[in-house]
Parts: sequence; C-alpha cells; structure tokens
Amino acid sequence: MSDSHTTQPPAAASLKAGGVHDIPLAVPDLRGREAELLQECVRDNWVSSAGPHVTRFEKAIADLAGRREAVACVNGTAALTAALSGLGIGAGDLVIVPDWTFAATANAVVHAGAAPIFADVSVDDWCLDPDSAATAMKRHGDRIKAAIVVDPSGKVAAPSRIAKLQEQIGCLILEDAAGAIGARREGAAAGSLGHVSTFSFNGNKTVTAGGGGMIVTDDTDLAVRVRHLTTQARVGQDYRHDAIGFNFRMTNLNAALGLAQLERLDDMIAAKRALAKRYKNHIAGRNDLRFMPFDSGDGLDSGWLSNVMAASEKDARSLLAHLASARIGARMFWCSLSAQAPYSTFHTVDVPVSRLLTDRVVSLPSSSQLTDEEMERVLAALDGWRGTAMAAA
Ligand SMILES: *Cc1c(COP(=O)(O)O)cnc(C)c1O
Repeated sequence: MSDSHTTQPPAAASLKAGGVHDIPLAVPDLRGREAELLQECVRDNWVSSAGPHVTRFEKAIADLAGRREAVACVNGTAALTAALSGLGIGAGDLVIVPDWTFAATANAVVHAGAAPIFADVSVDDWCLDPDSAATAMKRHGDRIKAAIVVDPSGKVAAPSRIAKLQEQIGCLILEDAAGAIGARREGAAAGSLGHVSTFSFNGNKTVTAGGGGMIVTDDTDLAVRVRHLTTQARVGQDYRHDAIGFNFRMTNLNAALGLAQLERLDDMIAAKRALAKRYKNHIAGRNDLRFMPFDSGDGLDSGWLSNVMAASEKDARSLLAHLASARIGARMFWCSLSAQAPYSTFHTVDVPVSRLLTDRVVSLPSSSQLTDEEMERVLAALDGWRGTAMAAA
C-alpha cells in the first residue's frame, strides 16, 4: 500500500525526551538483527537477486502459511500479477475483486492483461461477500476465470465463506494476504487459502523486507512456472526465452531484512494485537466511533492496522483533522475502486457495503513499537473528539 499508507520516517523528534512529538501511523520495527544481516550481505557480496537469503526467506514464508511452495518477488503487486499470469489468466478474462481493497489488487489483474469485475464486501468482516461474487458470476460467468479474496487490516477471509464461494462460483480462488501475515481464522493461516496466495513486505506491513512480495501455493507446477516467469522466462544460461517474462525476483538484501523481521514476528504481532485490543476496549462505550471487525480471541487477527469507523465522511475528516492537530499520524483507509475514474469502465455489481465504508474508516497509529506514553496520547486525543452517533451495529 505504498500509496495509501506511505511509510513515514520515524520523526527524529520522537527520539527526544519530553516535548510533544509526532506519533507515526505505521513505521518499520527494525529493533532486531536487521542491520547485522544486511551487513552480512555486503560482506559476502550477495546483494542482488542471487543469494542464500532469498531461498531461506521463501522457505520461512512457505512454512508460516503452511504451503509447499513459495516464490519471492519484488513486491506484493508483482506477486499477484505473476500468480495470475502463471495461472494462464490474461486477455479477455475477468477476475472478481472486492470493490473495497487497496488498488494494487485490481491493478495486478489489469497488469496481467485481464479485467477486474468488482463485487461487494460483507458488512460483518469487510472481506469479499460470497453472495455478491455469485451475482457477478451469474452475469458474466462465461468470462470469469478467478476470484481474489483479500484479507483486510490483518483479518483472514473466513475459510468457511471461501468454501461457500468455491461452491457458488466454481472458479479459481486467489488470496491477497498482503498485510495479514501471522493472522489466522477458523484455524487457517493467512496465505493458506485458495489455490494460491500472495504477501507484501512493503514498509508499512507487519513484516517488511524494505519492499517485497511472496507467492505461496501447494501447486508445484504453478510454482515452477511462476518462478520461471518472474526471472525473464529464460531457458538455460543462454539468452533464450520461451515466454514474455517479468523481472520480478526479490534481491538478497530485501530477503535478509525480511528474515531478520521474521525472528521477531510473534512479538510484533503480540504488540499490534495489544494496541488493537486497547483501541477496541477504549471506544467500546461510544456510539460515534466503531472499531473494525476484530477478533481478539482465538480467531487471531494480526492487528496489522487498527481502523475505526465514523458516522460519515464529514466526521471521519473532522477526526483526521483533530488527530493531525495533536500531531498524531492517521489516514483515511480504502476507497471504493469502482467509484474512482481509472476503474469506472470495469464491470461491477451493486456494492453498498463498499460505498458505506468509503471515506468513513480511519487508520490509527499501529506501529509495533508504539510506546505506552504514545498510546495514552492517542487515546486522550480520541477522548477529546466527538462525532455523530451511529445506530447500533
Ligand atoms: C500492500 C497491499 C498490496 C500491495 O503490496 P505492495 O508490496 O505494496 O505491492 C496489495 N494488496 C493489499 C490488500 C495490500 O494491503
């Protein structure tokens, strides 16, 4: 989400004792062996797309997702694009995409040569609504080749609903698990759903590799094909190619950073979940703010980004202004894609929930290294703002 959640450098002021400093929305947590592993890469002359860390990172992510295969990519958008191409999805094909997601999900479909068809999300978990996808299938089933389910804000799409989706639409399912690493739902890990899943390791995700992405699947043939496609579809060592490939391979430097991050994954997720629980409990009694669907029990949402919903766009913008004046980083979350000019020519079914969430969901500071004192400041700022009451959920 390089666009909607640009990573801010940790404000130098935030390191100073005392004084009111900026509290960032979401910054990388580099307190482990990141520098050490990066120095190793330079020392050993493994800084490009060959090197031991890429393979290690692939193995680690495959294990986390419970998948047989993993192929590292330069970013999450590239991972989705390559996965779709590897599945043979391209010109003339339609792919169901939730209308309420980061633009990259739809962009990858277009980069692969196909077109998105937008379906709605469910009001209770903000994930693709199987009934809405079924409506899309009824209208354009002859051209629909796949559906992408998205795990929003660290919540995995429900496996039971994906099973229903599979039954209703009967096409390939991909999981865009970009920001959901380490999350689980109904016992299933992020990255384990559908035929193939992808992750992002952008700077604002729970685990960052500087930039990076990963394709995970149990389909070994697909993994071989995708690995080939992401490395220029080159045959042997000569300049011979058997397809139009991509240059999507992750570098060893990025993988080293990602590996150092994984050593602290459990701690980072525990910290993010603790923040999310605190926000949720703190605003539980209010009727002008509602916390995102967040399962703090054994569902194990990762709390990648803590989001709150306000009663209207006016309220959400007023909250953003209020937080900005307190030097607290916050940002409007996703906007209905079909409502935006570049996507307006693609097919869509009715998307009332996506339109309802648009311009009403605000992301709050969610960095795993947020201090207690900073959290108190954010909570106090929330206390100092009042909006319009919403009807009970
Ligand atoms: C971050 C994100 C992406 C894109 O990942 P990049 O690594 O930034 O290309 C795709 N989909 C979703 C849902 C995301 O949050």
